[in-house]
Amino acid sequence: MEKINVGVIGATGMVGQNYVRLLENHPWFDVAYVAASPKSAGKSYEEAVRGKWQMASDPPKKVRDLIVGDANDINQAVGKCDLIFSALEMEKEKIKQLESEYAKSDLPVFSNASANRNFDNIPMLIPEINSNHIDIIPQQKKANGWSKGFIVVKPNCSLQSYMAPVYALVKAGYEVKRMIITTMQAVSGAGYPGVPSLDMIDNIVPFISGEEEKSEIEPQKIMGKISDEKIVNDTSIKISAHCNRVPVVDGHTACVSLEFGQNKPSLEEIKKIWNEFSSEPQKLNLPFAPKKPIIYREEPNRPQPRKDRDSDKAMTATVGRLRGCKVFDIRFVCLSHNTVRGAAGGGILNAELLKAKGYI
Ligand code: NAP
Repeated sequence: MEKINVGVIGATGMVGQNYVRLLENHPWFDVAYVAASPKSAGKSYEEAVRGKWQMASDPPKKVRDLIVGDANDINQAVGKCDLIFSALEMEKEKIKQLESEYAKSDLPVFSNASANRNFDNIPMLIPEINSNHIDIIPQQKKANGWSKGFIVVKPNCSLQSYMAPVYALVKAGYEVKRMIITTMQAVSGAGYPGVPSLDMIDNIVPFISGEEEKSEIEPQKIMGKISDEKIVNDTSIKISAHCNRVPVVDGHTACVSLEFGQNKPSLEEIKKIWNEFSSEPQKLNLPFAPKKPIIYREEPNRPQPRKDRDSDKAMTATVGRLRGCKVFDIRFVCLSHNTVRGAAGGGILNAELLKAKGYI
């Protein structure tokens, strides 16, 4: 199969670097275009990331010599690539406008930013949960007058650890009514240079701007249904979130207390549901799909960021410590890699899904 040329905008940042790293040797996609802010534009990629490259291996040879474009100038991408991975960090309104302009220029956009998440004709995908939301794309194109381009977004990085486990239970017939979630989120989630070291070392910061609101609303869209040519949120699940920044490099952890409806599964049944859970990306055998989207660990002291974040290409949700709850029904701890499953890896999996379904 001839590879598809892809562009990464915001390629010099924390998520963008992960795209560049993860796409090296991808069987379907080739990084042919990189772009960032005007201050990086015109430099070679190697020069633009010098001093701020955060990945363990050096920038891939093929990308090192690419000249960084200005992400604000759509024309620089046209003709060089067939789709865009967007990892921009700038004013929301500007991202919204730019991503629309790329889509208008026939370039499908796979975005990590929150700017376009709240539109009812833009799918916000965790492909194991709501791959059917891509059916809204024809309406999205029609509403905007776009021909080949469209926008697909990823939800907030902290949701990835608990949404697949929760969805697996709902799919098995156990209604979830209420959840209290306390996250412990890695510093890489704030980009680079991110939170100052003097705020993070020997410390926990109990505030991440906008994060609790996103954690409470985005699951309702992910669990929503397409009706009357729009995605209608499922507001039946009530969520209360506490989001904390902790001194961990990669890997967001969440402690979850959950209340079921009338029908309550046993702890053994829950573990079985999680261990057997498999969905569309696994069925389609997508290159970035983990073999098991949920891994349950029996050890009493797991999951842990350092030990579990890289499990199966860093694309799984690792869950542990399932036990009863004296206030709700159950409690558990879960973890996923924020810059891979929660960002670049998740974006790549979305693009693979759309490719496999014939949208690209
Ligand atoms: P980051 O490290 O701060 O990188 C930001 C990128 O945006 C850089 O490439 C930067 O280019 C570019 N940029 C900044 N201002 C620009 C401008 N005026 N015009 C064009 N490009 C500009 O941020 P990040 O952590 O990678 O996050 C990127 C996006 O992903 C954000 O929307 C974030 O909310 C989202 N996200 C992040 C994570 C995570 O775990 N980090 C997870 C999920 C989603 P220069 O290098 O040239 O300044």
